[in-house]
Amino acid sequence: MRLFIAGHNGMVGGALVRRFAAEPGVTLLLRTRKELDLTNQAAVTAFYAAEKPDTVIMAAAKVGGIHANNTYPADFLFDNLAIAANTIHGAYQAGVKRLLFLGSSCIYPKLAPQPMPESCLLTGPLEPTNEAYAIAKIAGLKLCEYYRKQHGVLYHSGMPTNLYGPGDNYHLQNSHVLPALIRKFDEAKAAGRPEVVAWGTGSPKREFLHVDELADACAFLLRQTNPPDLINIGTGTDVTIKELTEIVADTVGFPGRIVWDATKPDGTPRKLMDVSRLAALGWTARIGLREGVRRAHASYQAEKAAGTL
Ligand code: GDP
Repeated sequence: MRLFIAGHNGMVGGALVRRFAAEPGVTLLLRTRKELDLTNQAAVTAFYAAEKPDTVIMAAAKVGGIHANNTYPADFLFDNLAIAANTIHGAYQAGVKRLLFLGSSCIYPKLAPQPMPESCLLTGPLEPTNEAYAIAKIAGLKLCEYYRKQHGVLYHSGMPTNLYGPGDNYHLQNSHVLPALIRKFDEAKAAGRPEVVAWGTGSPKREFLHVDELADACAFLLRQTNPPDLINIGTGTDVTIKELTEIVADTVGFPGRIVWDATKPDGTPRKLMDVSRLAALGWTARIGLREGVRRAHASYQAEKAAGTL
């Protein structure tokens, strides 16, 4: 298999490289953003013609937190549409038989039923703060569905829940909750501080999947001869943010207090994937949250020591 992993320098792409580098018979085709600008259609077409991949995994996207998404919605919509259109159409033109497109759970309506089944796609308005990104991802998954329907190519999509693991963003203000907590507890312990401040009330619930499990689910999906057009990838269970803070504090070995800053937003009360479609195919997550947080803390410490955070 000649496998092009688009976006291999990101957290998801990095996990895919680790997963597929170990697989016999796989030649990885990788390009940095500098080497190949996926928003440039001519460059993408030339890359496909020269390298002739037979399989593509789309893990490339312009991503950011709530602040970036809200401030630069035109960039998020245009860049992500261009990346999806060029990569999917270019693959089709070059005769690529198989493509797996990755998105995120923000494609589902803001008020989706919980857990969220794939069938709730396009049944209601999106969360306004990430609408631009979500619309580009919905366009990408529909491109895959319609190229499959019209042209008979096996292009399909997987939508992962909140991910964490090596290569995560540990920024204190701009990152997601799990990497932020790992860093906060680690730094508080090292400095001997008595308390850590967590945001909101701690009552919202979230689902977390280790990125190495996502990579394994992608390998599993690529082995399916007739995969669904769209499939959720998650653990199917969630925890309250309060439970999460306790797990992280325990893992890091922080002995102090957790203080809740209620001036910070809670966000949506719950965001859980319905993973029954994936379970019916035969894949379920195996890394429990405690074990996953232990691994993520270890990779955080390794990245910190190497100066690559
Ligand atoms: P969301 O899943 O899109 O809401 O984004 P986040 O991962 O940023 O936040 C999830 C929940 O964790 C929210 O209720 C936050 O208020 C809460 N939270 C608690 N402490 C932190 C923190 O230090 N950083 C972040 N980002 N969220 C935190």
